[in-house]
Amino acid sequence: MTLNNDIVLIVKKGMIFFVLSFAIIFYFFTIFNMAKVNEASEVIKQKINNIYDIVRQITPFYLNTDDVYMKSGISYVNGIAVMVNEDHDVRSISTAINEVEKNIREIIYDDLWGIAVIQRTDTTANTAHFKPLREVHIDLNSQGLHDENWIERIMENENLSYPYNDFSKCDLKLTENYIENFSNEKIRSIFYPFYENRKLIGVVLIDIKHNFIENLIDNYNYENHSKIEISDKKPIYEFDFLPSVKKIKLPCTPIKSEYFITIDWLSVISWVLVYSSILSLFFMAFEYSRKLINLAISKDKMTGLMRRDVFERCYKSKQKDCAVIIVDIDNFKLINDNHGHLIGDDVIRKVSRILLNSIRIDDIAIRWGGEEFVILLDIYNEDEIAKRAESIRKQIAENTISGMIVTVSIGVCISKDIPFEAKFKHADDALYQAKKNGRNQVVCYA
Ligand code: GH3
Ligand code: MG
Ligand code: MG
Repeated sequence: MTLNNDIVLIVKKGMIFFVLSFAIIFYFFTIFNMAKVNEASEVIKQKINNIYDIVRQITPFYLNTDDVYMKSGISYVNGIAVMVNEDHDVRSISTAINEVEKNIREIIYDDLWGIAVIQRTDTTANTAHFKPLREVHIDLNSQGLHDENWIERIMENENLSYPYNDFSKCDLKLTENYIENFSNEKIRSIFYPFYENRKLIGVVLIDIKHNFIENLIDNYNYENHSKIEISDKKPIYEFDFLPSVKKIKLPCTPIKSEYFITIDWLSVISWVLVYSSILSLFFMAFEYSRKLINLAISKDKMTGLMRRDVFERCYKSKQKDCAVIIVDIDNFKLINDNHGHLIGDDVIRKVSRILLNSIRIDDIAIRWGGEEFVILLDIYNEDEIAKRAESIRKQIAENTISGMIVTVSIGVCISKDIPFEAKFKHADDALYQAKKNGRNQVVCYA
């Protein structure tokens, strides 16, 4: 009946709903992410400190473990490659290395690139434990391990305090990014020298993939349903009214190692877009099905035309410039009398079907009374309306309906700019005229 207009209306409502839901969701999601920016900066610092603490656990273990005599070369103990430059006593620390690996992986998963523990003795005997053993380490064996002062040089290069002297300073160091030889992997390392009686006895080296902090944030986002990002570059935007940027300095790293945690606006906007679109689609589907249900219950059961009470309640006031056509079956009482009410009903149904097939989707056909129908046409051309009415009359009169000839009389009103009641009155007068003139004809109100 008026489904086309309704669809346009539903789409318009859907668009307003989309804009509103976008604004509301965007507002609340931004506030949520602003809180997460603060929280995440603490979480990141905490996780890095946790990694440092795990690394430090090596010292007590190292000091209390047994020595094992090993021959020079590379041997494997519990999955750890032990590289020895000459036969000597080696600290048995494979359990500790495996434990450290497991604990660090619980924090950074596959971003742990490797662990090395370098053992220093007072003699020329050097040992290094690697998990896993890479080409870069084998290369070390041929150069560094045979060099008495190689650990000292590592300490100097990394600017680590040596010998042990200052309690307050960081006892380890997280380097900046660098590319590992042979593997070409971009990594950062944690250097942790450990001491016994102020004397350096070894260095722990933990290699971590350079983007582990970004991955920690990805993980944080995944667990917290947030959309934040971290970058070592200062964001180009920073709104005073939106405290959405948090600067963090990682513990025990070079001065320039600063990070900025910000709201990931692109993700926020796309997330909000997706959700408000889904909500709007649901809203439109709901409105559409509501309309369909309304349409179904607004139909007269017997004929499928609109019910008069529904029209008067919901549509009458909205009608403006439409033509009104009243169709009334001629001598219907006779049909009832001669053929019975059931056949009479059948005639009403068949005439209604012809009416429905003669109108367009935006027109309205109403069962006004028993065998009286009103059609509202959205057409302003007088000839066109008269032609339509005549075509309806002809279709009914020229076809046998329930085995008999049935005719209708039609009254038409094409006056514009008057209320529906006035138009109806004019059409009814025209119908009266048609009946008076002998029925089976169309009369237009002049
Ligand atoms: P006219 O040509 O002047 O219109 O004559 P008419 O006999 O059609 O007169 P009128 O329009 O007043 O007749 C309406 C009749 O329709 C009266 C009523 O018994 C019958 N009627 C009303 N509703 C139904 C219905 O649902 N089924 C049947 N079978 N008859 C109905
Ligand atoms: Mg009649
Ligand atoms: Mg009648």
